[in-house]
Amino acid sequence: MKTVTDFNFENKKALIRVDFNVPLDENQQVTDTTRIEAAKPTIIKILEDGGSCVLMSHLGRPKEREEQFSLKHIISAVSDVLSVQIKFVEDCVGDKAKEAVANLHPGEILLLENLRYYKEETDGDEDFAKQLSELGDIYVNDAFGTAHRAHASTAVIAQYFPENKCFGMLLASEITNVNKILSDGEAPITAIIGGAKVSSKITIIENILDKVDHLIIGGGMAFTFIKAQGGSIGNSLVEDDKQQLALEILDLAKKKNVEVHLPYDTVIADSFSNEAKTQMCDIKAIPNDWMGLDAGPETRSYFADVIRNSKTILFNGPVGVFEMPSFAAGTIAVCSAIADATKNGAFSLVGGGDSVSAVKQFNFGDQVSYVSTGGGAMLEMLEGKSLPGVEAILS
Ligand code: AMP
Repeated sequence: MKTVTDFNFENKKALIRVDFNVPLDENQQVTDTTRIEAAKPTIIKILEDGGSCVLMSHLGRPKEREEQFSLKHIISAVSDVLSVQIKFVEDCVGDKAKEAVANLHPGEILLLENLRYYKEETDGDEDFAKQLSELGDIYVNDAFGTAHRAHASTAVIAQYFPENKCFGMLLASEITNVNKILSDGEAPITAIIGGAKVSSKITIIENILDKVDHLIIGGGMAFTFIKAQGGSIGNSLVEDDKQQLALEILDLAKKKNVEVHLPYDTVIADSFSNEAKTQMCDIKAIPNDWMGLDAGPETRSYFADVIRNSKTILFNGPVGVFEMPSFAAGTIAVCSAIADATKNGAFSLVGGGDSVSAVKQFNFGDQVSYVSTGGGAMLEMLEGKSLPGVEAILS
């Protein structure tokens, strides 16, 4: 796997695909610089070598050249994060862009205008990719958030740099960390799969059954399993058409010697609201008109025991409606057990959507080994799919 550390960028222009698709407020101010900070190590390495950086990114989903999606809005935020005053050019291809690149000196950074002002970007257009490729000597992909897309700047462009292409540090570390779960994890390996629906997690479960020793199933998706086993789940979330599939998963897990852990008890509520009336309940005996919205106390300590005894942990999906404080205790207990295991030497990865928000919201972000930065891309890696942006560098 070639990364930026395999190249010396002295007097070279690095053409870097970054993911600066950052949130902006109504005054077009950046409200969260996480994605810019994530690309910083790659950019700094190149500048320290004596090279220059040409940054390309998308922002939002413009239909045409819409001002609100201009990357000019992020110039000062990028300059602040990198502590370098960056340059900006109002196009990403053509004469203006070429001229700005020609005038770029070692130690300087140029940000190109939004790639998605051209529909050729998402079309994966070869000619557009070729035009982009003329703006740098070495192509670096550090945009994990779009690595699962076969777009011009994320995948197609790589063919024009047969020898001079590599991963940025962020993308490389996402790949390395997911492989610590999927390829070289130390046993016992535990996956905590929660969230709303079985249907959105089924491919991940199927893929990881070959890799894990323990599978904890929590959150809304657990109720489809409980109902399929004959439990009464009241008004809880369920996908009736996935009950058969749930039984097949349990069967397959048994054949593969994976221990599946389902909740015992649950916090039930009389409505889907933080202010609802609540009580504890056996998960198989939920009264009509009540719904399970969080893991109950017995389940919390049962899940925590499994997690604390694990050496490798994947956390994908909350075990309750953590957005409402009344139903956050289960997810907090899981986060806390992961933090304990990590302190004791386990490797823990939090990846894919809502578990990332939960870990950050409850301030466990720095107590786990790795928090993934890419929702969709991480989900596809966990599903065992190869990502076009990764393949393009490896091929
Ligand atoms: P996902 O994006 O599939 O990981 O689902 C995350 C969502 O699942 C979060 O917004 C949670 O509020 C929701 N969730 C977790 N547990 C439950 C539950 N018992 N009932 C309904 N929704 C749930």
